[in-house]
Amino acid sequence: MNAHPMSTSAPTLVRPPLVAVEKLRVDMPLGRSGSNVNIVDDVDFTIGVGERMALVGESGSGKSMTARALMQLDRIARVSGRIDFDGADLLKLSEREMRKLRGSSIAMVFQDPMSFLNPLMTIGEQVAETLRIRGVGKAEARKRALSVLDELGVDRAAERIDAYPHEFSGGMRQRVVLAMALVGEPRLLIADEPTTALDVRVQDQVLDLLDEVSTRRGLAVLLITHDLGVVAGFADRVMVMYSGRIVEDGEVGDVFARPRHPYTQGLIKAVPRIDQDLAALYAIPGAPPPPMNRPSGCTFHPRCDQRVQCCALELPATLQVGRTRVACHLHDAKGI
Ligand code: SF4
Repeated sequence: MNAHPMSTSAPTLVRPPLVAVEKLRVDMPLGRSGSNVNIVDDVDFTIGVGERMALVGESGSGKSMTARALMQLDRIARVSGRIDFDGADLLKLSEREMRKLRGSSIAMVFQDPMSFLNPLMTIGEQVAETLRIRGVGKAEARKRALSVLDELGVDRAAERIDAYPHEFSGGMRQRVVLAMALVGEPRLLIADEPTTALDVRVQDQVLDLLDEVSTRRGLAVLLITHDLGVVAGFADRVMVMYSGRIVEDGEVGDVFARPRHPYTQGLIKAVPRIDQDLAALYAIPGAPPPPMNRPSGCTFHPRCDQRVQCCALELPATLQVGRTRVACHLHDAKGI
């Protein structure tokens, strides 16, 4: 896959919104204590029809919880705000209505295909199952499963449709999982670290495939990753998440050419380069705070080498700066 140019690109096509998220907040109950811990707070974003959006950040930043909130996968999570999908507010739908939407309009693929696949069912049965539970007849579901396995480049799909997951390589299993997600013809695919468990060569193949399929089908993709190399090669826009909030978002070319938030700058600086000595690899000092123990003010301040006086006291607002949105006091009047 070709890397995205690291210079400022032409503005991305303005697309009609498919997803519009406003003031999303996710809290999880803390054991049996009766109290909650905040995982995601005040998150706003849109994804256009056919657009590829990346959500990046270190582990524990709230990326996966944001995606799971879109699908409403965690029954115990307390989710508030607004999630519009194609004109409907998903937070107002019943579980029955959400079940209909999952797989047909919005689908998700996860990091580890083996934990997602049932070892006792053939891959054909598993791909067809998405359609069978929607009332599609057995023969038709098998025909469509075969067609999508073929589309996704599963070798000799007609012969191997009756094989079991253990008979496939890691890369082929990820294609099968993608087939399960795509057979219902969703309009949005959420891909949560889909290539993390794969080696680099297979990783590139899976991303190329996702690139081809999303272009051909006009499919919007929300790609969750901690890997900025993957973002550069795949996405139109990127949101950087830290400690449950979006700290910077914009078009990939703009954010890579001129990262404005110190956390984004650190993430980009930490990407290894081919010409770099291993000993010279940069890492952002410290670690993200646990959600139950977030620092006051800007939650990045204990790790930030550019902090100013107000950083430990006040949470920065999100402001439009050039073509990106940034939440950092260096870009508001308080930081001057
Ligand atoms: Fe650093 Fe302050 Fe900006 Fe936070 S608000 S990223 S601490 S400069």
